[in-house]
Amino acid sequence: MNYRQDTIAAIATAPGNGGISIIRMSGPESERILTKIFQPAGIVDEPFESHRMIYGRISDNGETIDECMAVIMRSPRSYTRENVVELHLHGGSYNTNHALEVCLKEGARLAEAGEFTRRAFLNGRVDLSRAEAVMDLITARGAQEHKAAIRQLDGGASSFIRGFADDLADLQAGLAACIDYPEEISDEEGTGKLKNGLEKLVASLEGAIEDHASSLIYQGLKVALFGRPNVGKSSLLNALLGEERAIVTDVPGTTRDTVQGEIWINGIRVILTDTAGIRSTEDPVEKIGVERSEKVRYDSDAALLIIDGSEELTDTDRELLRQFSGNGAVVINKNDLPQAVEEDTIRNIRQDVTCITVSAKNPDSLKKVLLWLERFTEVSDQIALTQPRHLDAARRAVFHLKDALLTLKQFSPDVAATDLQAAQAALSEITGENADEKLLDRVFAKFCVGK
Ligand code: GDP
Repeated sequence: MNYRQDTIAAIATAPGNGGISIIRMSGPESERILTKIFQPAGIVDEPFESHRMIYGRISDNGETIDECMAVIMRSPRSYTRENVVELHLHGGSYNTNHALEVCLKEGARLAEAGEFTRRAFLNGRVDLSRAEAVMDLITARGAQEHKAAIRQLDGGASSFIRGFADDLADLQAGLAACIDYPEEISDEEGTGKLKNGLEKLVASLEGAIEDHASSLIYQGLKVALFGRPNVGKSSLLNALLGEERAIVTDVPGTTRDTVQGEIWINGIRVILTDTAGIRSTEDPVEKIGVERSEKVRYDSDAALLIIDGSEELTDTDRELLRQFSGNGAVVINKNDLPQAVEEDTIRNIRQDVTCITVSAKNPDSLKKVLLWLERFTEVSDQIALTQPRHLDAARRAVFHLKDALLTLKQFSPDVAATDLQAAQAALSEITGENADEKLLDRVFAKFCVGK
């Protein structure tokens, strides 16, 4: 594909009928095609003024397709840094497709997914991480995803990575000096400094990787509701979701499999999973459900152990309380009924747990659960590595840096230099320096056509 010489065209707006639809063209032929298919309504001098909307009509062999507004944005002041034309038509699919066909007939080629943004990248207008941010912005489902996309669009990830890359370049220069002037710089002096620098770099990169913000933003907070049968897990799930998702009956063992629903807290997707009630059972189907519920609990970021406050604690309740660990709270449910379990009853078994007393029948009381969950949804404004692709590259960089540290300990600076190069290459994948076609194909395949 000749990314620099041909002219591409695509419908930039979503399919279907709407107020307006936009056709976009980019490339050297876009201005010629515009003047061929577009006739301004009044007297407008040619060549058309750049960045100015002109009212007129678009036609095919003299036959009007639509009234439209047209604009040319001449290189380099455009999205792709090439000559870009936009036609703003009435938002119907027939007229828009017809107008696109005319552009193609006059010499444009149909753009591939993300090709406009790919050109912006290839022409040096944005780096790869900022190009990706465009798609993240389009697909953002909530406030935190949106915020992360804006931060990345503003160059957050790029400057963060460039900071590391600069530090790494300094270390590489130091190492080169050790290799080139072994008589002047003793091994201990040269490599000692390098080791310190490398250790610091590894620590800060690992810190950025381990920041759980990425998974929180893109995968959501996983919360398991568990407890013995009939304590009100399904009722609580339904009440938290505000809909009847899980089946509620007073027959123990009704929820044999996991049931999921989502709510949003602080712009973070919170995935609540109602697990099968935990009890020893011989029923094979129920047994699978119980095993699955244990797995959900293990994989979750936070867990709510539900207790029926209207009944004395059972042996299963006590056992679950003893096993309870990690990010969890005990929810004492059914507080609309006379209470047999108080917070103190729980604290006599486990002093270190948070207790929340609620009734699934009283949605207002569930605010306390939401408030408790809120603490897990806090995301620092500083985070820069949020994309799985970035995290993967950063992990590979850490791997090579650790290798470099090992080889330095064995006084093999030449080998360490190769490791540092590999680390540098991994980091530069994030911003797209030296990116190969395969990587670009992978990144831009996620885009929509017309973007
Ligand atoms: P699960 O087996 O733990 O999922 O429990 P369910 O949600 O199916 O509830 C079992 C029974 O307890 C049902 O009859 C519910 O209506 C009832 N129940 C659940 N929560 C409450 C509550 O807060 N108050 C009262 N009074 N009944 C509840």
